[in-house]
Amino acid sequence: MKLKRIFIQNQLPKELEPLNRLSHNIWWSWNFDAQELFNSIDPDRFVKLNYNPVALMETLDPIRMQELAKDKAFLKKLKSVEKQFDAYLAEPMKKGPKLAYFSMEYGLHISLKLYSGGLGVLAGDYLKEASDSNVNLFGVGLLYRYGYFNQGLSMNGDQIHHYPAQKFTQLPVEPVRNADGNWLKVSVPIQGRIVRAKVWKLPIGRINLYLLDTDHEDNSQEDRALTHMLYGGDNEHRLKQEILLGIGGVRAIEAMGLEPEVYHLNEGHAAFLSIERLKNHVGDGMSFNEAVEAVRASSLYTTHTPVPAGHDHFPEHMLREYLYHYAGELGIDWYDFVALGRLNPDDSGEDFNMSKLSIRLSQRVNGVSKLHGEVSREMFTSLYPGYTAEEVHIGYVTNSVHYPTWIANEIHDLYSTQFGKDWVRDQSNKDIWRKIHNIDDKKLFDVRHKLKVRLLDYVREKLEADMRRRGESPRVTFDILSKINNDALVLGFARRFATYKRATLLFQNEERLRELVNQEGRPVIFLFAGKAHPADQGGQDLIRHIIHISKKPEFAGKVIFLEDYNMEMAKLLTQGVDIWLNTPTRPLEASGTSGMKAALNGSVNFSVLDGWWAEGYRPDAGWALPLERTYEDQHLQNELDAETIYRIMEEEIVPTYFDRDKNGISKTWMSYVKQIIAEVAPTFTMKRMMDDYYERFYFPLGKSQKAASKSNWKPAKEFAAWKQDVLTTWGGIEVVESKTHDTVNHALPLGEPFVAEITLDTNGIDPRKLLLEACFYERLGEDEIKLRRKEVFELKKSKGSRATWSISLDPRLAGVYEYGFRLRPNHPMMPHAQDLNLVFWA
Ligand SMILES: *Cc1c(COP(=O)(O)O)cnc(C)c1O
Repeated sequence: MKLKRIFIQNQLPKELEPLNRLSHNIWWSWNFDAQELFNSIDPDRFVKLNYNPVALMETLDPIRMQELAKDKAFLKKLKSVEKQFDAYLAEPMKKGPKLAYFSMEYGLHISLKLYSGGLGVLAGDYLKEASDSNVNLFGVGLLYRYGYFNQGLSMNGDQIHHYPAQKFTQLPVEPVRNADGNWLKVSVPIQGRIVRAKVWKLPIGRINLYLLDTDHEDNSQEDRALTHMLYGGDNEHRLKQEILLGIGGVRAIEAMGLEPEVYHLNEGHAAFLSIERLKNHVGDGMSFNEAVEAVRASSLYTTHTPVPAGHDHFPEHMLREYLYHYAGELGIDWYDFVALGRLNPDDSGEDFNMSKLSIRLSQRVNGVSKLHGEVSREMFTSLYPGYTAEEVHIGYVTNSVHYPTWIANEIHDLYSTQFGKDWVRDQSNKDIWRKIHNIDDKKLFDVRHKLKVRLLDYVREKLEADMRRRGESPRVTFDILSKINNDALVLGFARRFATYKRATLLFQNEERLRELVNQEGRPVIFLFAGKAHPADQGGQDLIRHIIHISKKPEFAGKVIFLEDYNMEMAKLLTQGVDIWLNTPTRPLEASGTSGMKAALNGSVNFSVLDGWWAEGYRPDAGWALPLERTYEDQHLQNELDAETIYRIMEEEIVPTYFDRDKNGISKTWMSYVKQIIAEVAPTFTMKRMMDDYYERFYFPLGKSQKAASKSNWKPAKEFAAWKQDVLTTWGGIEVVESKTHDTVNHALPLGEPFVAEITLDTNGIDPRKLLLEACFYERLGEDEIKLRRKEVFELKKSKGSRATWSISLDPRLAGVYEYGFRLRPNHPMMPHAQDLNLVFWA
């Protein structure tokens, strides 16, 4: 048989055509009226189809279609939504550099299987805000056939992995076409083969996400599988996917003529994009070193993982198989190529690390919370000899969530009665949110209770279906369902089941937990959900453990695990619970975002003071486990943390929640709810995060890109030449004379100035492009010093290669210090001290 494929599109009546347009832009997913519109077409099928309006329209029954085409009320709603959409699209774009954002995953909606967890949801939320904020940005990623798995469970709680295929015709994506009207495909070299990737466009409001797809006839079976699964396969598979994303992504951008000015690497997965950009500059006639400056001047790398092992790395021999030809194309030898991803280039056993590569080729780097910024500076200090962690240039922008995606409509309506017109545009303004205090406690309580009932109804329905499918006995199921109490205090814990997140911490002392959840008149429910990576046995054990507990009679209806965590469930959970719980091993939570979704909706948080909660926590708006570790031993620490959780639950949270007045509400509880809304929520909105990225990184990078690229990149070339010069002469710098106190034999009396005069032979380096600093350290331990003070010397005189610097300072603080005089390069184009990573101790 010889069969060909044809795609026959459902023909909508003219009146309904706008539905086609609306369903093909994911904007509908964060506009409540648009959601309602699609829902009203066929509520049951809409839910069954994972709220996918494209699938809904494609499979719509012709009779229902004719009905709708004559339904005046429906058509009126349709018109109004279309009008909103057009008005939204018509707004002019904000000024700023043109940005390309690269990510391996995007969590946009449950019907688009392009994400696994927090990293993806963050990227998806970010693109939605980029659209709302009208900024000049587009995204690049991969279009997966199967994406990340759907989770099933066996009766024992074993995780089962389902990979249903996505039908691309039922996704809001469209082919990108080239000038001839043909589907745009880019070629990516993989092991000497040419893999062809189709380019798709996924409109997100006003902006676009471009997705690469290798699953088509041009490619071999093996290469087709490149875009099958997200985080599936072995390390080599990951390498190929990252080559596709980085190199293929840049080629797609070029083919579309998009010309971004700044590249944002969301995680190291995307770092090969910089290699391809280097190649392009070298192809345009730059030297390798010049190309490095051009790429650095326009790149930002955001790191998300505080665990060194969490950063992708590949053995040199594997990398060689795939990228050897790049060294030649960049005009460097293989040794120098591998050095881009190594801490120590001479260590032939060291893997090529994607974070090192990202840092090496990005001028700016950031972590995703204040604390994670600190942790990242610590982690990468070894890259910058001569500097202590606090001096390392890595900054931070704390993650956030997209308000329209995560807010419950009922809560939004309530806020809007007080917060004023159009307030969402100014959503990071605390003064607006403080108006929550004008809202009556009872009103707020009732809306929140309604959301809780909605959640628990969902839990009952889902549990019943899931347990039936697992073959659980009807008696056990009935027992559990009958014990779910709508008036309970409900806590939620849902996230990836990575072991560091300690999902089972609560079960450290079962007896204590049993008492806690079974108090007369004070019911408590713990809801759990989350997927463990298919290769993570430890994570899967945790799920099994929770399922086991949840079946014990004393925990029936009190400890519940919901299978197949996804964005829709995340909405219901974060909107409906009273408390959002997070208990990671510190300091391994880079940020965490689900607690922010809860905060927006007035769900109080109870978490370790790690990641975002270290910034968000206030004693009047939630509860916390301290950041400091008491024990080195993790088991002891777990025990202590569990004890603290029980105690805070028993003594504070439960009594406060159930301390009801005659209206049936707890005043104190409602004050917590209002404080988390007023004082915490606005800080963790995407608008704030977007503004921070612009202020701290995009505007400065846009400027440095502009400055470096003038007159065909002349400044970048000169800067590269200067750096080369300094690199080769640095080793020849010598101290000619050093005059300072005899600090070995004499103490310096307090009040007397500390003076020093240093004369150096700079070996030909212009002394004005050098900076000499006096650094004073306090010794904390054998290998640990802390920088207490840093002062800059004044350049007194210079003649040829000889230069003299001097300093005189008031010591201010008594005590024992260790000090040194540190010389470093200093050029106006250096964005920070470590941009040329050289230090000479005078
Ligand atoms: C928000 C979200 C996450 C992120 O949760 P963390 O608190 O950052 O661990 C993960 N998965 C889904 C489906 C989400 O919606």
